[in-house]
Amino acid sequence: MAKLELRELGNTGLKLSCVGFGASPLGNVFGTVSEEEANASVREAFRLGINFFDTSPYYGGTLSEKVLGKALKALGVPRDNYIVSTKCGRYAEGFDFSADRVTKSIDESLARLQLDYVDILQCHDIEFGSLDQVVNETIPALQKLKEAGKIRFIGITGLPLGVFTYVLDRVPPGAVDVILSYCHHSINDSTLEDLLPYLKSKGVGVISASPLAMGLLTESGPPHWHPASPELKSACQAAAAYCKEKGKNISKLAMQYSLSNKDVSSVLVGMNSIRQVEENVAAAMELATAGKDEETLLEVEAILKPVKNQTWPSGIQQS
Ligand code: NAD
Repeated sequence: MAKLELRELGNTGLKLSCVGFGASPLGNVFGTVSEEEANASVREAFRLGINFFDTSPYYGGTLSEKVLGKALKALGVPRDNYIVSTKCGRYAEGFDFSADRVTKSIDESLARLQLDYVDILQCHDIEFGSLDQVVNETIPALQKLKEAGKIRFIGITGLPLGVFTYVLDRVPPGAVDVILSYCHHSINDSTLEDLLPYLKSKGVGVISASPLAMGLLTESGPPHWHPASPELKSACQAAAAYCKEKGKNISKLAMQYSLSNKDVSSVLVGMNSIRQVEENVAAAMELATAGKDEETLLEVEAILKPVKNQTWPSGIQQS
C-alpha cells in the first residue's frame, strides 16, 4: 500500500503526515462523538499513516485532550511513533497567557493526555490576548518548559494573519518553531499563501488547519456557531450542492486544494469517524497519483468568487 506523504516541519526535524488529525471534534465541538467512535477514528488514522494529532484544553472544556490521550494510549505503540500538539492560554473559562498559567497548564494537559511530553505546545488564539505579553512573557515561559523536557517545540495560533508577523518580528530567531493558521488556506480563502515566503525565511514550520473551513465546505454544512456571514454560508452551500449534482464531493476537493501546497507541512482536518478518516486520507493518496480535479475546482472557485477571502472578525489587540 502506498504511504501517506510525510513533510518536514520548518527547522524542527519533525516529519508530519500531510493529513493531520484535528481532535476538536473529540471534544464534541461539532456534535456528540462517543468514546468508541473517537478511539476507532484515532486507530484508523494511525493505521493509515497519520502521525500528527492536535488538541487543546479549550476543546470541549478539556474533553478532547482526555479522549485523545486515551485513544493514543490504546494504540499500544512507542511514544515516538506519533506527534502530539496541544495548546495553552485559551480555556473554557477564558484567556490567560500569563507565565504562571501556561506553566501550570502544561502539567494539566500532560496528565489528561497521559503523556510525559508533548511535541508542540502552542499559544492558542493569541489575538484575544496581549501580543506583547505573548512575546515578552508567554514564549519565554514556554522556553523554560522546553528546557525542562515537557515540550519539544513552541508554536502560536490565531485567525488574523497579522498576529504571526507581529510576534515573529519581535522574538529572538528560533524562539517560535511553528505557526498554526486556520481557515486561510482553503478554496474560499487562500490568504495564507502570501505569508508563506516570509514564514519560510524565518524557518518557521507551517500547519494549516480547517481545510473544510470548519464545516462550510461539507455537504452537511457548518455547525450552528459558525461565525461566517450568511452570504459566505450560502455561497459554500451552493458550491457543495453543485459538486453533489456533478457526482463530486466538495470536502474531497477542499482537502486536495489545501494539500497541494507543499510549503504547508500538515493540513489539519477535524475528524470524528472512520469514514471521514478514510475519505481524507484517500483524498491525499489520489492527489499524489492523479492530481487535482482542476475542472471542478475552477467551477467551484467561480461560484465562490463573490465571497473570496471573506473572513470574520476576531478582535485583534496588540498590547
Ligand atoms: P475543519 O475544516 O477540519 O472541519 C471539520 C468538520 O468537517 C467536522 O464537522 C468534521 O466532522 C467534518 N469533516 C471532516 N472530514 C470530512 C469529510 N471527509 N466529509 C465531510 N465532513 C468532514 O475544521 P476544524 O475541525 O475546526 O479544524 C481542524 C483542526 O484544526 C481542529 O480540530 C483543531 O485541531 C485545529 N484548529 C486549531 C485552531 C486554533 O488553534 N486556533 C483553529 C481551528 C482549528
